[in-house]
Amino acid sequence: MKILIADDMEGISGITSWDQVDPENAEYRSRCRHWITADVNAAVQGALDAGAKEIVVADGHWNSSNVLLEELLPPARLNTGTPSPFSMVEGVQYGDVDAAVFIGYHARAGSLQGILDHTWSSVRVANVWLNDRLVGEFGLNAAVCGHFGVPVLMISGDQTVCAEAREWVPEVFTSQVKRATSRWAAECLPFEESRALIRETARKAIEAFAKKKVKPLKLKTPLKGVIEFKDAHMADGAQICPGVERIDGRKIGFSAKDAAEAYLTFRSLVKLAT
Ligand code: ZN
Repeated sequence: MKILIADDMEGISGITSWDQVDPENAEYRSRCRHWITADVNAAVQGALDAGAKEIVVADGHWNSSNVLLEELLPPARLNTGTPSPFSMVEGVQYGDVDAAVFIGYHARAGSLQGILDHTWSSVRVANVWLNDRLVGEFGLNAAVCGHFGVPVLMISGDQTVCAEAREWVPEVFTSQVKRATSRWAAECLPFEESRALIRETARKAIEAFAKKKVKPLKLKTPLKGVIEFKDAHMADGAQICPGVERIDGRKIGFSAKDAAEAYLTFRSLVKLAT
C-alpha cells in the first residue's frame, strides 16, 4: 500500500501566527520547521503501523520547502520545491497512490475561528467556488486526489478545518490538535499528545481503509469555477488568461474538463492576479 501524506503548515500542532509559517521569520526557522516535520513523522509512523509499504510526502506550504529531510523518517520520500505540477498533492498523479492523509491543514478564507484561515493566498483570494459550492484548500486538494482515484482518509488541524473536511468527506478521520478561539489564537495540545493523536488517527484511518475502501471525492464535470479576488486590480490581472469570464469587479469565472484542470487553472489565475 502506498500512502501520500500532504502537509500544510497553518494547522500544524502549536502554530497560531503568520510569523510562525513565514520562511523569513526566525521562529519559523528555529522552531516551526521541526514542528511540521514532527507532525508529518507522526503520520508516517501511523501509516507504517497500519502496514503501508511506501510513503511519499508532498510538502505543501509556501515554497514547499518546510519539512526537514534530515529529520524525516524513512522510508518516507519527500516531494519538495516549487513549482511542481500538482503542488500541495504532488505525487498523486502517477496512478500508484492508494490513499492520502492531509496534515496541518487550515480552514477556508472567511471561516469563523479558523487558525490562519485563507484559500491559497491570504493576500489575493477572498473566496473560491467549485460548481457553486464554497471551497477551501481541503476541497481543492481532495478533488485533485479524487480525480486520480485517491481518497483522503484523514486530516489534522483545528476544529474548524476538521468540520470543513467532514462536509466534503463525511467518513474522513480527524485529528484536532488545537481549538481555535480566533484567527490568531488557539488552545493547543502539548506536542506529545498531538503527535500521538496524529499517529493513532493515521493508523486507524488506514486500517479501516484496508478493510473497506473509501470512495474518492468526485466532482461533477465539466467543472465550473469562480474566484473572488480581494481587489479588482487582481481580477484585472487574471482576466488576461484566455477563456475566462469576468463576472464583476472582483470575480473571474472559468470552466475545466476535470478537477485536475480546474486546479491548474485556479493556480494560474491566482499567479496572474498581481
Ligand atoms: Zn500553508
